[in-house]
Amino acid sequence: MKAAIFKAARDVEVGERPDPKIQDATDALVRVVRGCVCGSDLWYYRGINPHKVGSIGHEYIGVVEEVGPEVKDLAVGDFVIAPFTFNDGTCPACLAGFPSNCEHGGAFGNGETDGGQGEFVRAPFADATLVKVPGKDFTDEQLASFTALSDVMCTGYHAGVSAGVKEGDTVAVVGDGAVGLSAVLGARLLGAKRIIALSRHADRQAVAKEFGATDIVAERGEEAIAEVLRLTDGVGVDAALECVGTDQSIETAAGVTRAGGMIGAVGVPLYEEFTYQSIFWKNVGIKGGVAPARRYIPELLERVLAGEINPGLVFNFTTDLDHVAEAYAAMDERRAIKSLLRVGSL
Ligand SMILES: [Zn+2]
Ligand SMILES: [Zn+2]
Repeated sequence: MKAAIFKAARDVEVGERPDPKIQDATDALVRVVRGCVCGSDLWYYRGINPHKVGSIGHEYIGVVEEVGPEVKDLAVGDFVIAPFTFNDGTCPACLAGFPSNCEHGGAFGNGETDGGQGEFVRAPFADATLVKVPGKDFTDEQLASFTALSDVMCTGYHAGVSAGVKEGDTVAVVGDGAVGLSAVLGARLLGAKRIIALSRHADRQAVAKEFGATDIVAERGEEAIAEVLRLTDGVGVDAALECVGTDQSIETAAGVTRAGGMIGAVGVPLYEEFTYQSIFWKNVGIKGGVAPARRYIPELLERVLAGEINPGLVFNFTTDLDHVAEAYAAMDERRAIKSLLRVGSL
């Protein structure tokens, strides 16, 4: 099959990978219709985080092509959304609602497992992992939104859930990448009344407003903290959603959160200087982590199908698998918020 192959930093190319086969009775083979490039793929691309040589891309949607003998809930021809990690659905972590921490789980596209930036994927524990989408004919807009549910929309939502965002809250979102923008939408879904998006880029500010941001702060660092405090009469926000993972972003989140507030952190932490002391003295809590996307997909999918939300707006660059290198370059050069890959037809 044709698939994107991570060769080295700044070297992702389309090439040939072995056709996946059913290995375990609970596997399904999925023919990928859409994949995409993640912000975390950019960390590999830029050489900041290591990645094995091999398949890449953990976000995809597609059509079930074949199922193992123990797959009960899915059939050939079903349209499915894959969360970015697979899970058995039965271990203590899964039962506690954290399938992304499954004892027997793992990530798609880690070099060894099949990636979503490829024509086919073997999905382990198919019944527990994949989410069936009712229907067969979908618009390009719907397909983009389904793809956003594979990771970024669930991850942004997880920031809000982790911070305990509730009806009437004031929330600040640090980070205007696809996850940060999705966190704006997630905060709105959770009932936030005021959502302050920190963004310096006009195209991202526009999506943030579309997703429900009530205020935009273009400053960064100390100046951003001062501006958010000014907007909140010196009090700070009930919840800050940290969607970047750098020292500056977590310090900003800590700086804008009111006494007793919460930080929902979903940016993969690359902190070197941030310390717990900076939030301890304000009684600020921090919770977050790798999003249990599989838990959130069904409820968010209902809202997409009802036309209530359009999380696919984070994709402002689309190409096909043959041009995957361009999809990475566009995000690396900030020409794209997030790149969508047309891999196959419905
Ligand atoms: Zn991702
Ligand atoms: Zn599990």
